[in-house]
Amino acid sequence: MNQESESINAKEIKKRRTFAIISHPDAGKTTLTEKLLLFGGAIQQAGSVKGRKADRHATSDWMEMEKQRGISVTTSVMQFEHKNAIMNLLDTPGHEDFSEDTYRTLTAVDSALMVIDVAKGVENRTIKLMEVCRLRTTPILTFINKLDREGKEPIELLDEVESVLNIECAPMTWPIGMGKRFKGVYHLYEDTIHLFSATHGGKIMQGETIKGLDNPELDALVGDQAEELREEIELVKGASHEFNLEAYLAGTQTPVFFGSAINNFGILELLDAFADYAPSPQGREADQRFVSAQEENFSGFVFKVQANMDPSHRDRIAFLRICSGKFDKGMKINHVRIGKKIQVGNAITFKADSRKNIEEAYSGDIIGLHNHGTIQVGDTFSEGEVLKYSGIPYFAPELFRRVVLKDPLRGKALQKGLVQLTEEGATQLFKPLKNNDLILGAVGILQFDVTAFRLKAEYNVECVYDNVSINTARWVSSDNPAKFEEFKKKAFDNLAKDGGGYLVYLASSRVNLQLTEERWPDIKFSATREL
Ligand code: GDP
Repeated sequence: MNQESESINAKEIKKRRTFAIISHPDAGKTTLTEKLLLFGGAIQQAGSVKGRKADRHATSDWMEMEKQRGISVTTSVMQFEHKNAIMNLLDTPGHEDFSEDTYRTLTAVDSALMVIDVAKGVENRTIKLMEVCRLRTTPILTFINKLDREGKEPIELLDEVESVLNIECAPMTWPIGMGKRFKGVYHLYEDTIHLFSATHGGKIMQGETIKGLDNPELDALVGDQAEELREEIELVKGASHEFNLEAYLAGTQTPVFFGSAINNFGILELLDAFADYAPSPQGREADQRFVSAQEENFSGFVFKVQANMDPSHRDRIAFLRICSGKFDKGMKINHVRIGKKIQVGNAITFKADSRKNIEEAYSGDIIGLHNHGTIQVGDTFSEGEVLKYSGIPYFAPELFRRVVLKDPLRGKALQKGLVQLTEEGATQLFKPLKNNDLILGAVGILQFDVTAFRLKAEYNVECVYDNVSINTARWVSSDNPAKFEEFKKKAFDNLAKDGGGYLVYLASSRVNLQLTEERWPDIKFSATREL
């Protein structure tokens, strides 16, 4: 590769912002996604993104499910531009389709946007997703949504984020009132007031902007609230953290924006800051060495495998995050796990509303590889040098079911089906040491239905589920072989092997887990297992 094309690559890579939105269901992730795409010009009209959620309650019809999953193949990655930056927004399944994919997608991004409902504050799912972001110290920007409604006091909310999520908050914008009194936001660093009007609607229209907090125009337009705002800002400036780019990039501080996604308000401020400050593609640790995003040779890893749109085609799409270099159509790359070179002729790229075959893609981009069963979550592909990325974890499931076969003669087919389906990574299979049970674990409830339907459709096996008294799982290991042996004997009834043959402790309750951890200080209990 010559100097000139190398610098073109470097430029392309620097433009990329690969991110995901984390939030609790109903905080406004879908609405915000849609507005971001509107700003980015990737969709023309509000409503295009919403549609994909219309069928989200259809849990009992396999075709519907396939369709739903198929649709989300296209919306799995959304690329759009803003301020000369190229954004790759990776969808993180929420609601019923919440699954381990949601977690794993977060290992493929360089930063995240956190959406919080002003009335609800920090909710469960957000706490969990934040923990996952922490595994890779992912920088996080925060958007506090629904200011057009009454909610918690902004100061109180920042305190809550700081204490519950253990991250410093740096307000970037500040709301002027809320609910019926919501008048807009003040940008603390640009000293501008952006006025809210109900007519703002879904249009890309920025409404009126006033320069300067002391501007008398402000008093004329918002009356008493102008003076309130001035006092509040003085207080906020004294009591809160100042924006610090390094702290943001280190994941210890989150810049905070206020607005209303549905009214398309406060989003441009967020998006501008995102384009300016969010990290471009970061390097990544491979087993062999650290790989910089700017390296010439292509490399990447698969973080998700998903059914294709067309159910008559059995093929699945493997989502690969490019970690270094550039992908060229037709290039030959190592499929590291199986030790073969493959030629990739028809990878898929993702634009908001369409899929098409691509000629090239850069570090930070996601490409879809057609997969007829040879690609698994965690697989690495590399050009030239053989590299292997690790750190794409399995997460401890939070829901467990015993799989019961309807026709006892189909036992072998069941085992085969379960092994293959769990290899896709949305559910995990556990085999207790003490008996022949097959325990399925998932982080999202819909995955049990999906697995049952697919077992029937693809393996002709009918099964039902029994509840089991398992509350959570932890992978166990120890540096002390003698203690580990002792533990294995004593805890035999609670131990199982996962799909990879690793030992797992299945706890009947949180209390049981806690007591066991306290009793066995030499044993390490991990909530994740790296692939
Ligand atoms: P998701 O589950 O996080 O994707 O949330 P949605 O984007 O589907 O939003 C959940 C609900 O909140 C929907 O009824 C939205 O119309 C509503 N919503 C989203 N943003 C706002 C907002 O800024 N103000 C108000 N009042 N409602 C909003």
